[in-house]
Amino acid sequence: MSPSAADADLAVVVTHIEARGGQAFVSRGVTRTIVGVVGSDDVLEELEASGVKGLPGVAETMRITTPYKLVSAQNHARRSTVRVGGVPIGPDTFTLIAGPCAVETPEQTLAAARMARRAGATLLRGGAYKPRTSPYAFQGLGEAGLRILAEVGEEVGLPIVTEVTDASDVDTVARYADMLQIGTRNMQNFALLQAVGATRRPVMLKRGLTATYDEWLMAAEYIAQRGNLDVVLCERGVRSFEPALRNMLDISAVPMVQRLSHLPVIVDPSHAAGRRDLVVPLARAAMAAGADGVMVDVHPRPEEARCDGAQALVDDSLAELAEAVTTIPPLLGRTCATHLAERAGTVG
Ligand code: PEP
Ligand code: MN
Repeated sequence: MSPSAADADLAVVVTHIEARGGQAFVSRGVTRTIVGVVGSDDVLEELEASGVKGLPGVAETMRITTPYKLVSAQNHARRSTVRVGGVPIGPDTFTLIAGPCAVETPEQTLAAARMARRAGATLLRGGAYKPRTSPYAFQGLGEAGLRILAEVGEEVGLPIVTEVTDASDVDTVARYADMLQIGTRNMQNFALLQAVGATRRPVMLKRGLTATYDEWLMAAEYIAQRGNLDVVLCERGVRSFEPALRNMLDISAVPMVQRLSHLPVIVDPSHAAGRRDLVVPLARAAMAAGADGVMVDVHPRPEEARCDGAQALVDDSLAELAEAVTTIPPLLGRTCATHLAERAGTVG
C-alpha cells in the first residue's frame, strides 16, 4: 500500500482479495503496510487480471519468490515482535530465557527459576516432555512436570516455555505453557507443526540437527499456514565433523535468517556447546550478531541434574551472562529485557 493509503482503502483491498478466494495477511510497518496474499496460481492470476493494482491506495504488487510465503521477509514491512505472556521477543529488545533443561522436582525448578530471574531472564524454560536419544534416559515428568513449571512460573512471575513432542499432547501442554517449544528432533514433524499452528500460543521452533535455512523456514511456514504467525526461530547448533563439542553454533544463521524472514531469531548456546565454560562466550557472540534473545540452561546442582548437567550455568557463570545481557544489546540499540524484569519487581 502507498504510505498515504487510508484504512478504508486497505479494507477494500482485503475484501477484493477474499472475494476471489485468496487469504489476506496484513502487516503494518512504521512507514508502509503490506498485504500478503496466499492462494493457488489460479487465484493469483485472477487477482492480477482483476485490476487489484489499480485500487485506491495500492502502490505495487509483486509475487513472493521464496518457497515460504508467510514467514518471508518479502511479505513484511519490518521484522516482527512476538509477545509471550506480555514479554516481547523482537528487533527492539533483547530477551533472556533461562531455566532447567528438565523439570525434576518442585524445589529444583524453583531454585533454577530464581537463578534465571536473578540473571535477568524474563521467560522461564523447563522440559516436562524430554526427547532423549536413549529410551533408558529420564524422559521427563510429563503433565506433573507441566504443573510444577506453571506453579513455579506463577511464583517467580515469569511466563513459561516448554517443549511438546507429540501432536496428541499439544492441547495439554498449551493449557499450561505460555510458549510451545518444538525441539530439534521434531523440526520436520509436520503433524506436530500443524497442531501447534492451530493453537493461539506462540511457538519456539528450534533448528533441526542438519536443517538448511530453507528447510527451517519451510517448517515455520507449516505453523504459520495454520494461522499462527507467532513463531520465534531458535538456532541451537548443527551437527558437525568436530567431536569436541556437542554441536557447532551457526552464528551466521542469525543475520542470514533475519534477512530471509521477518520472524525473531534467538540462540540457544547451551545445547550448541554442551559444556558450561563455552555458554557465555557463545551467548556474547549471539548478542553481537544481533540475536533477538538467548535461551540458556541453569541448574542449582548441575552434578545432580537428570539431564544436560554439563552445560547448565551455575551462579558464577550466570553473573557473567547477566553482565553481558545488560551491556551488549544496548550497544546495538536494544532495550534489554532485564529492565523489564526490574520494572516488574525483583523476586528471590
Ligand atoms: C531443549 O531445549 O531442552 C532441547 C531438548 O533442545 P534441542 O531440541 O535443541 O536439542
Ligand atoms: Mn537439554
